[in-house]
Amino acid sequence: MTAAQRYRVPFQRRGSIVGQADLAALASVVHSAEPLSAGVWRERFEQRFREVTGARHALTVTSGTVALELAVRLLDLKPGDEVIATPQTFQATVQPLLDHDVTVRFCDVDPDTLNMDPQVLESLITDRTRAVLLVHYGGLPADMAAVLARARRAGIVVVEDCAHALGASYRGVSPGALGDIGCFSFHSTKNITTLGEGGMITLNRADWAERVERLRGNEVDGVFAPVPGFADDEPALLPWMRFSADVYRRRAVGIRGAGTNATMSEAAAAVGLVQLDALERFTERRRWIAARLDAAVSAFPGTRLQRTPEGSTHAYHLYTFFVTAGREVREHFVRALDRRGVEVQLRYFPLHLLPEWRLRGHGPGECPQAERVWFDEHLNLPCHPGLSDEQVDHLVESVTAALHEATALAGTGRPLAFR
Ligand SMILES: *Cc1c(COP(=O)(O)O)cnc(C)c1O
Repeated sequence: MTAAQRYRVPFQRRGSIVGQADLAALASVVHSAEPLSAGVWRERFEQRFREVTGARHALTVTSGTVALELAVRLLDLKPGDEVIATPQTFQATVQPLLDHDVTVRFCDVDPDTLNMDPQVLESLITDRTRAVLLVHYGGLPADMAAVLARARRAGIVVVEDCAHALGASYRGVSPGALGDIGCFSFHSTKNITTLGEGGMITLNRADWAERVERLRGNEVDGVFAPVPGFADDEPALLPWMRFSADVYRRRAVGIRGAGTNATMSEAAAAVGLVQLDALERFTERRRWIAARLDAAVSAFPGTRLQRTPEGSTHAYHLYTFFVTAGREVREHFVRALDRRGVEVQLRYFPLHLLPEWRLRGHGPGECPQAERVWFDEHLNLPCHPGLSDEQVDHLVESVTAALHEATALAGTGRPLAFR
């Protein structure tokens, strides 16, 4: 039995609804005589994405992970450099750093938001720091004014992992247009999808946009110089073949690395465009579910809600709340919800405790708030537009019932070993 069949209210297999309009867009791509790669749909999707987010440059790629990999490539990290990263995110945010001989400084989170704590960030900046990798956790924008003030003072690059945050805003600005580089995911579970996989990278620098353009299109990431004395009016066999003259016109001064193929298919981009137009509707639905859950959870004294700071709007990729009544109550609550057919998840295990980061010298005690919240309090509940009204009713009723049950049972059972 799959989890989708097992749960009456599944956590999140699909983060958006793919419907008739998506299918119509798909059909028009397939039935046209245009290429299925690197064509007009990709450009339209990127153009619309720039309009929606306000980002200066937006380039499609094949996943959020690839966007993050390319972002790290742009940092030109050297041995001994340092990067500050949040531990409270999906592992793809920081995993590209494993390919570099750099020191990662995990920055503890604010337990009320689960976003990077700017005070801690400040204490981690050294003269070797090159970049900050942060996430807008669950779709709640990070404290960007505080982060950017510190980053600008120290001259370091801010990379926003926006995989959760499409549809959110911070002081009226979209994530991805706040820092230097933004990385979005259109994976099946995310707030919009490009048929299951896909991503976007946003940039505020034209030279970085050019590098990403080359990198995603199989071109070498090089530094080139003109060849002196090359005749600019060299005759071409046919006018449009003149581009081949570029090979003679420029020489490589340095090569930073190999390019790759991260081209989003036209079919995916066409669906992305339709999905983007539905984003507001999807986000409204998420907010409506979150408001109902907030009401149910806050009626119970042994809990606290994730705090949305003034000036921010939440995209609710994840609905997050905290059980403060103790680990045992949380465990009873999870079991009680599971029995009612409601799937619960905990996102995410503190990254600095993963084996690959322990091997690099990281471990318990490094981010006390992230660890405490994860091991003792943190919970995520289903919250996505695929849930019907009936499923939302069942979810909300189950949360209330399970919270009562969990309190009554506390002290009577053997808790699960979360640690
Ligand atoms: C989903 C996700 C990614 C990776 O995106 P993919 O498109 O699945 O590669 C990166 N970071 C975070 C925070 C994510 O949730």
